[in-house]
Amino acid sequence: MIVSLTEKANPEQVRQKLVARGLWIDTVLRDAAGNVRQFSIAPYSSAATADEVAAIEGVASVTTSRSDHPLVDRQGPVVNVAGVTLGEGAPAWMCGPCSVESEDQVKRSAATLGALGVAFLRGGAFKPRTSPYAFQGHGRVALGWMRKAADAAGMRVVTEALSETDVEAVAEHADMMQVGSRNMHNYALLKAIGATKKPVLLKRGMAATVEEWLLAGEYLLASGAASVVFCERGIRSFDDATRNLLDLGAVALLAHVYRAPVIVDPSHGTGRRDLLLPLGRAALAAGAAGLMIETHDSPGEAKSDGPQAVLLDQIGALLRGLAPRPEGGPR
Ligand code: PEP
Ligand code: MN
Repeated sequence: MIVSLTEKANPEQVRQKLVARGLWIDTVLRDAAGNVRQFSIAPYSSAATADEVAAIEGVASVTTSRSDHPLVDRQGPVVNVAGVTLGEGAPAWMCGPCSVESEDQVKRSAATLGALGVAFLRGGAFKPRTSPYAFQGHGRVALGWMRKAADAAGMRVVTEALSETDVEAVAEHADMMQVGSRNMHNYALLKAIGATKKPVLLKRGMAATVEEWLLAGEYLLASGAASVVFCERGIRSFDDATRNLLDLGAVALLAHVYRAPVIVDPSHGTGRRDLLLPLGRAALAAGAAGLMIETHDSPGEAKSDGPQAVLLDQIGALLRGLAPRPEGGPR
């Protein structure tokens, strides 16, 4: 149950009345100025009916839902992220290197991508690598490189906060905070990212069910995230013919049944640049609001994920193949 307060309500008085009726307040939702605007009541504390709660002075409305993720349900399929509409109109592109390798690299990437109409520059400053000996990212300094490159090209920045200690720096530089697949279940991190009140790109855990993924989105919204966009990036399967199994059924489920904004990352989903065109098309047909695609100007020398990176001078042709103009494709 979500209890929304009137403009003039005294939140503490409303809270006391809810508690006096035996209700358990799970989460307190605040507006950007820090004022309490809503209480969320635990679904298992059913001591009072919605009508009884609605009658309490200071309560504007009561929303009941049998879903465990009412905020995700209420968000709807269309969100605005830093002036870019996702989930309506032309697909949104999020492109750039797997890792931010140098200032020059992101500058060149953003110049090419921005000119093609790519809205978001992606790239990892903090990299979640399977091996501790693999390149871990340049860290904070790379965030500044990305911001500068994106601003010069008229792009937005989406980048991953790998741990709670990175959250503040990432929030300072990024338009959209990325939660990586390995961190989808890191609830302390989700809360810290939500508290920045930024829009979030939430990658699906590689072994996460759709319900777990939606609940991770609920954590973000409940802790203050401006919006949550779900990103399907492939799940583990028995077959290693492709790097992961790109679950387009889950994409259709999110887009058409849960009506949630969803982006597909066929780069990590397949691990192969030669499958990006067919799977990217399939993802858009399944209801994806856009695609995340890794690029590199010399994939053979990439510090991470070279085999799946599209050459920077071939990304334009790929994007035109994915969504030819005039339906809203890239220039
Ligand atoms: C990434 O997009 O940079 C990344 C590390 O992907 P994932 O978390 O999906 O593995
Ligand atoms: Mn990568």
